Amino acid sequence: MDSARIGKIMKAKQYAQEPERIQIHDLSLTFQGTHSTHKITFHDGQWQCDCDFFLRRGFCSHTMAIERVFDGMLVEPEEELEEVHSDVMAKVPA
Ligand SMILES: [Zn+2]
Repeated sequence: MDSARIGKIMKAKQYAQEPERIQIHDLSLTFQGTHSTHKITFHDGQWQCDCDFFLRRGFCSHTMAIERVFDGMLVEPEEELEEVHSDVMAKVPA
C-alpha cells in the first residue's frame, strides 16, 4: 500500500473520532419499527416520517431515535442560513 493511501486512512480514523466535524443537511432512510418499516427524510432541519403518529403530531419515536444516533450532526434551519451567509462573506475579497 502506498504512503499517500496510508496517510489518508490514518486521517480518516482521526476524523471518525471527531463527529462534530460532520453536519448532515439531508437524509433519506428506512426505519425498522416494531410493527412495520417507516420511510423517513430530513431536509432543511425538518423531519418527515410516514407513520400515523408523526402525521398527527409532527414527531415520533422513529425520528427521535435517529436524532439521538446523529446527536450534534443534524443542521438546524437557522444554523444552515448562518453558515451560508458566512461562506458567502468569506469569499468576498477584502
Ligand atoms: Zn415515525
